[in-house]
Amino acid sequence: MDKNREFHELLGLCWHELNPSGVGFLCTCGRWFEYEDIDNIHMRCHNPDYAADPRLVLREMQKKGSDLYDDFLDSLAPELEHYGYIEAYYILDTTGKLRDAAIKFMRKETADEPT
Ligand SMILES: [Zn+2]
Repeated sequence: MDKNREFHELLGLCWHELNPSGVGFLCTCGRWFEYEDIDNIHMRCHNPDYAADPRLVLREMQKKGSDLYDDFLDSLAPELEHYGYIEAYYILDTTGKLRDAAIKFMRKETADEPT
């Protein structure tokens, strides 16, 4: 699975993907498109590239709650726990290091949830 998509879905967000439907395409968000060129624009506009802009990872984590966000930051730099710092290494990287760290963190969070 695409890692941007995996992170997005771990947050409970809708990843836009078009599937043939009748004479057009139905997106997973429920919108219907007649032409393929429009659907490509729709997906580019709504499916974030968390690797290209690691700040998006932090914004989406923060939206999910301050506890989750703080715990994630603490997991990246345990020696700086509770100060809300993040190493520039993660922010300057555009290969997905912060996104991948967030996926690993979210998987662990999901596994640790009581059933
Ligand atoms: Zn959509």
